[in-house]
Amino acid sequence: MQRTIFTEDHEAFRDSVRQFIAKEITPNLPDWEADGVIPRDFYKKTAEIGINGLQVPEQYGGGGIDSFLFNTVVYEEIGYAAASLGGFQVHLNTVLPYFLEYADEEQRDRWFPGFADGNLVSAIAMTEPGIGSDLAGVTTTAVRDGDDYILNGNKTFITGGINADLVIVVARTSKDPENRRKGLSLLVVEGNMPGFLRGRNLHKIGMKSSDTAELTFDNVRVPARNLLGEEGKAFGMLAHNLPQERLSIAITGLATATAAVNLAIDYAKERLVFGKALADFQNTKFVLAECATELQAGQALVDQALIALDGGTLTPADAAKVKLFCTEMQARVIDKCLQVHGGYGYMSEYPIARLYADARVTRIFGGTSEVMKSVISKSMGL
Ligand SMILES: Cc1cc2nc3c(=O)[nH]c(=O)nc-3n(C[C@H](O)[C@H](O)[C@H](O)COP(=O)(O)OP(=O)(O)OC[C@H]3O[C@@H](n4cnc5c(N)ncnc54)[C@H](O)[C@@H]3O)c2cc1C
Repeated sequence: MQRTIFTEDHEAFRDSVRQFIAKEITPNLPDWEADGVIPRDFYKKTAEIGINGLQVPEQYGGGGIDSFLFNTVVYEEIGYAAASLGGFQVHLNTVLPYFLEYADEEQRDRWFPGFADGNLVSAIAMTEPGIGSDLAGVTTTAVRDGDDYILNGNKTFITGGINADLVIVVARTSKDPENRRKGLSLLVVEGNMPGFLRGRNLHKIGMKSSDTAELTFDNVRVPARNLLGEEGKAFGMLAHNLPQERLSIAITGLATATAAVNLAIDYAKERLVFGKALADFQNTKFVLAECATELQAGQALVDQALIALDGGTLTPADAAKVKLFCTEMQARVIDKCLQVHGGYGYMSEYPIARLYADARVTRIFGGTSEVMKSVISKSMGL
C-alpha cells in the first residue's frame, strides 16, 4: 500500500542515504562485527551528510528539524540493507532526544555542536546487574557534595558504552519509601571523569557491531551543571522519552523483516529443488505471502505512530503496542525467511543469518515484550 507520510524531500534524502549505506556501511559491516564496535570516524562521516544533526537546532550546526521522519528514513534504510547499528542508533534516536528535551542553555552550548559534527558519541545507562525491567529499583546513587554529585554504582548492557564520550546515568539522588519512582535523576558523565571505568565489551549472539559494555562509577565527581532536567524527576522524563525509543526499535524491526523477505524472494527464485525453482512451490509462495501481509500490518502501525509522535500524541501504551507487534512480527518473519534458505540460512556469511541473530534482542531491550504487555494492560484499566 502507498505510504503517505513522506514528501519528495524525504525521498530525495532517502536516495542519498541509500548510496551512503552502500558505500560506507555494507562493505565495512563484517569488519565492524569482528571488532565488536563501529569506528569513531563513522560518526563524522554521517555528520558530514547531515544525519547526526538532523534534529539539533540550527545555531549549533544542525538541521533544526522537529519531525522524526528524516531519522526514520535513515533507520529504515539501514534495516533494508540488513544491518543493525545499535550504538549509532541509540546515540541519535534514544539519547539525543533527552538532550534536545532537557538540556539547559549552557549544556546546549557545550554539547550540541559535538552532536551535530560527529565529535560526540553518547549512551544511556539505566540497567544495572540486578535491575532491568524494574527501573524504579535503580540502586546507583548520586549524593550532593557542594557543587558536585558523588556517583557510585554499576551499570550493564550499555549500548555504546565503549565509544561514548557522554553517558546519561540514571541515579538515585534521594529516597522516598512511599514511592520508589521519586528521587531518580539523570547525570551526564563525561568519558574522562576520574572513577568512571568501562568494563568489557560484552560478547553477544547478534548486533555484533554494536559495543555493549559494563560501566562502573567509583566515587565519580559529577558537577551539578551536568544534571539533565530537574533533580528527582528522572522517572517521568524516562516515561516521556521511552515511546520514541520504542517506536525506533519497531521501525528497525519492521525494516529488517522487510530485508529478510526481499532476501528470501531472491533466494527462492535462484535455488533449485527437485528440479525447479523453490519459488515455484506453493508453500514458498504462501509463506512469503503471509510475511508480506505481516509487514503491511506493521507498516500501518508504524506510520500511524509516526504521525502521532510528530503530533506529540504518541502515548506510552500505543508505543508499547507498536513495539510489541513489530518486534514479535520481526521474529516470526525472519524465522520463516531463514527457513526458506534451508541450511544456507544458518551460515554466517548469509545476511539472513545476521538478521536472525540481530532480531532476537528487539523483544528484550527498550523494555521486554512482557513489559510492553504490562504497559498496555495498565492503559486498559487492568
Ligand atoms: C544488547 C542489549 C543492549 C542493551 N542496551 C541498553 C542500554 O543502552 N541502556 C540500558 O540502560 N539498558 C540496555 N539494555 C538492557 C535492557 O533494556 C534490559 O536487558 C531489559 O530492560 C530487561 O532487563 P533484564 O535484562 O534485567 O531482565 P529482567 O528484568 O530480569 O527480566 C527477566 C525476564 O522477566 C520478565 N519480567 C520482568 N518483569 C516482569 C513482569 N512484571 N511481568 C512479567 N514478566 C516480567 C522479563 O520480560 C524477562 O523475560 C540492553 C540489553 C541488551 C541485551
